[in-house]
Amino acid sequence: MASTTRIGIGFDVHRLTRGRKLMLGGLEIESNVGLEGHSDGDVLLHAVTDAVLGACGLGDIGDHFPSSDARWKDADSSRFLEAALDLADGAGAYLLNVDTVIIAERPHLGAWKEAIRSSLAGLLDLPLDRVCVKAKTAEGIGEIGAGHAIEAHAVVLVDHRAPVRRAAGAKSAPSKAPARAPKPKGVRKSPKAKASRRAKPAARRGTTRR
Ligand code: MG
Repeated sequence: MASTTRIGIGFDVHRLTRGRKLMLGGLEIESNVGLEGHSDGDVLLHAVTDAVLGACGLGDIGDHFPSSDARWKDADSSRFLEAALDLADGAGAYLLNVDTVIIAERPHLGAWKEAIRSSLAGLLDLPLDRVCVKAKTAEGIGEIGAGHAIEAHAVVLVDHRAPVRRAAGAKSAPSKAPARAPKPKGVRKSPKAKASRRAKPAARRGTTRR
């Protein structure tokens, strides 16, 4: 049986500057510096967006939202994630879990990481136990360690509702893959399942879209 599980990785880094809000995971963080960027500079959402797109073979955030496009000037980065999730949904994929790391010397994010996690889980329509946000420092090493920038990493696991189509030109052979991916164990089916265009019903737990 062919596996329908796919993994995606995302990375991003933005320079810190005065006069900008600091947005991380869709949450505004109290800080006297913020992240530069054509959009709102939310480095975590950019990394997660890239991971979602990557898991579905859909390119990267720059392919879909180029910084040369004035429409994305100072844009709320949750729009990018929302669009990536819709693309994933259109490709028949739904998220299983998301793991992330933020590396920042300043501000100290230890007190913020659970709030960032909740914000990110809300944007993803995933229960908290399927989303993780880790906050690290760079131990004073390099540009991040000097407090000049913040970087973020993300890994996303997706499954597909239907088997992935064979590559064009591949030798034909009857597929033994199931018409639908097996339901994850231990996850209840939500009565609001039909309302979701994004997550597989079984992966939802009564969360609401932002
Ligand atoms: Mg970016």
